[in-house]
Parts: sequence; structure tokens; C-alpha cells
Amino acid sequence: MEKKAINIADGVWNVAPGMSAAYLVVGKDRALLVDTGTGETNILEIIREITDLPIVLVATHHHGDHLGGAGYFDRLYAHPRDIALMEDVKVYALPVEEGELFDLGGRIFEVIWLPGHTPGSIALIDRQNKLILTGDTISDGPVFMIKGDSDPDDYIKSLDRLLSMSGDIDMILGCHGKNVQDIEMVKKLKRAAVDFKAGKIKPIHQTDPMKADLYIHENGAGFISPIR
Ligand SMILES: [Zn+2]
Repeated sequence: MEKKAINIADGVWNVAPGMSAAYLVVGKDRALLVDTGTGETNILEIIREITDLPIVLVATHHHGDHLGGAGYFDRLYAHPRDIALMEDVKVYALPVEEGELFDLGGRIFEVIWLPGHTPGSIALIDRQNKLILTGDTISDGPVFMIKGDSDPDDYIKSLDRLLSMSGDIDMILGCHGKNVQDIEMVKKLKRAAVDFKAGKIKPIHQTDPMKADLYIHENGAGFISPIR
């Protein structure tokens, strides 16, 4: 199936429409690619229809559905705690930490470390345009909480951090579900995460497509917890 990029905002595209979004932000000197989707399409071909600038690839976290197209690039940046968890990624991985900047020329993104969904989950924020790319930390579809990989306590702290930054955030781009979210989704996830941790959300057992329990808060936000 042929897939085309979706223009989300000025200079911002979803270049992997479908199950797992990836975002391209084009600056004057280079372009930032955040995640690479599942790899079912040639993401580099899609990007080259938009820009010929050099690409800087940053992975929000180690999950394979965000790294499927990483092989089209020779290096990626990710948080060291998630680089340690990357499997079968044949790309040179370079560490980035909280506070590091990617200057695209006329547009700067700052790394925000938001552990919880995974230990080294990061977001990238463009404070001038009040845009933040959050990987899987923010989603209107259920957020994966995987035993041994995710940490609900860290996740709640990361949501609190985002809420404390709400003056810097107009648009949130997540990778699953609806692309564009806002701070209201963070508030819903916070309430859901607190109740999830307290065991107040009754699980819905699923057999297909994966054996997993769904924990959906009455506000619609929630979590999916695969049984390993
Ligand atoms: Zn994930």
C-alpha cells in the first residue's frame, strides 16, 4: 500500500502514517526525524519527497514498532537507558541526555527525559512553537505498560513534569491513535495512571490480537498490559 506523508503543522509531517507514526520537522539546515515507524514502507523515500536536507534521527524509545525504518539511516540518537534495550537494530546508536539540543537552523528541539513507558523514553520540545513530540508517553489509545520495561511510578512523575510545562505546550504529537493531542490528554492519563497503580481500574482480558489486559479509565485514557 502506498503511503504519503501527512502535513501536521508548519514544517511538520507524519512520515509513517498508520500504526506507529514518525515525525519529520524541517529546519533551514537539517531535518529532525523522530522515530521511524514499523518499517512497512520506505520512510526515506517518503522523506525525500519533502526535503533533501541532512536528516538527524532520534528514537523516542527502544520499542521495535518505532525503529522499523531505522535501517535506512546510518545512526540514531536515543537515551542511553533505552540504547541498552535495543534489539536487532543495525544502526549506530549515539546517546542523548536530558537538556541536549538539536538545532535544525531556525528551529531548536530540546531533549526531555520522560521515563515510565520505558526507562529511557524521551520527548523533543520546540519551546518557541510550543510543540512536543512524546513518542508513546502520550496517547489517546492505551499506553503500553509492560512488566519489566515500564514503571508506573516513573510514568506518573513524567506526566507531572509535562503538566508543569503546560505553558510551553500547545501541541503534543504522539505515535499511536490520534496524532495531535494537547495537555488535556496528559491530565486524563495522569488520573488513569494514578487509578491504575492503585488497582482501581478493572482489567478487560483480551485474547486477540495479543494476550493482554486493558485498563481503561472512565475518562477514556488507559493502559494495555501484555501478559508475558
Ligand atoms: Zn512503545
